Amino acid sequence: MVSEKKDIRALSKQELRDFFVSIGDQAFRGNQVYEWLWNKGIHNFEDMTNISKETRKHLEQNFVINHIEVDSLQKSNDGTIKNAVKLHDGFVVESVLIPTKSRTTACVSSQVGCSLDCKFCATSRLKRMRNLNPDEIFDQVVAIHKESLLYHDKPLSNIVYMGMGEPLMNYKNVLESVKMITSEEGLGMSPKRITLSTSGVPKMIKKLADDEVKFNLAVSLHSAIQETREQIMPFAKSFTLPDLRESLEYWYAKTNRRITYEYIVWKDINDTEKDVDALIQFCQSVPCKINLIEYNPIDDGEFQQAANSALDMYIEKLEKNRIPVTVRRSRGKDIDAACGQLANKS
Ligand code: SAH
Repeated sequence: MVSEKKDIRALSKQELRDFFVSIGDQAFRGNQVYEWLWNKGIHNFEDMTNISKETRKHLEQNFVINHIEVDSLQKSNDGTIKNAVKLHDGFVVESVLIPTKSRTTACVSSQVGCSLDCKFCATSRLKRMRNLNPDEIFDQVVAIHKESLLYHDKPLSNIVYMGMGEPLMNYKNVLESVKMITSEEGLGMSPKRITLSTSGVPKMIKKLADDEVKFNLAVSLHSAIQETREQIMPFAKSFTLPDLRESLEYWYAKTNRRITYEYIVWKDINDTEKDVDALIQFCQSVPCKINLIEYNPIDDGEFQQAANSALDMYIEKLEKNRIPVTVRRSRGKDIDAACGQLANKS
C-alpha cells in the first residue's frame, strides 16, 4: 500500500529543522533525526532512542520512512551478487555488487525501466515507470556495502551509476543521492570513487559541469559515426554527436577531468577500420580513455560480439594514437547481472 503520509526522507535537513520549530520543539532536533535517517540508516521511528517517546509518536503520525527491501539475492560463481530491490510501491529494480582483487563496486539503478531506447540493452525493453528517489538510490548502496562486508569481508570501495535507467534523466535525485553518499552525515565516501555513466545527454552533461560535481563521468559512446550511433541508439537523433562532443569539451574545460568512453564492438556494426578511425578522431577533443566492454547478448542475435581480430585492431590503433584503452570482462553473466542485462526478469 502506498501511504498517504509523507516520506520523511524527502525532507532536507533544513526542512526537518523547520518542522521541529513549527511544532514548538528545537531546530537541532531536526539534525538528530536527520542523522538517524541518513547516517544510522534506521527504518523505524522507535529506534530513534535520543528522541522523546512523545516526539517519536508525533513523527509516526505525520511521516513514514520508506525504504527498499532486498527481495532476492543471487550469487554468481565469480563472486558477483545481484539484488532484486523492491521499492515501497512494489516496483523492482536491480543492483549489483562486483568484487575484484583491488576493489568492490556497487552498480546501482537510477530509474524503474528506462526512457531511452538503446537496441542492445535489456532495460530499454521495459517502459520507464518512474524515477528513483534519492533515498532509494542511497539504500541500494547501503545494502551492497553490508553485503560486501558480509560476503567479502571488505567495505564497498566504488560506486557506478550503471544499473537500470539513465541517470541524467533523473538528474536532481541522482545528485541528491551522491550528496548523501559523499557527505559526512551520510556515508562519507569520496566522490572520486563514484562514476556516473550516461548514454550522452548533452544539455545535462553541461549542467553537471556547471554544478561542479566532483565525481567521474563515463559516456556510452559505442560509435563515433552519427549514422551508426542512431541505428543502435535511436535517441541519438536528438542528442547528436556534435552536440555531445561540445558538451564534453565544456565538461573538460570546467572540471579538468578526463572522460571514459564505454564502447562495445559488434560484428558487422562497428568493427571496421572506418569505425575505429572515427573513434580516434572523436577522442581528439578531450582527454579520455576507452573502456571496451564485452557484449552480453540479450536476445535473438541481432547484436553479436565482434571477432577478436576486430577487438585487436581497435586496441592496436588506439594505442598507436596514445589513447588509453582497457577491456572490461563481463561479470556475473550466469545470474544475468552483467552490463545491460538488468531487466528484472522476475
Ligand atoms: N543509461 C546509462 C547507464 C546504464 S547502461 C548508460 O547508457 O550509460 C550501463 C552500460 O551498459 C552502458 O555503457 C551500456 O551501453 C552498457 N550496456 C547496455 N546493454 C549492454 C549489453 N547487452 N552488453 C554489454 N553492455 C551493455
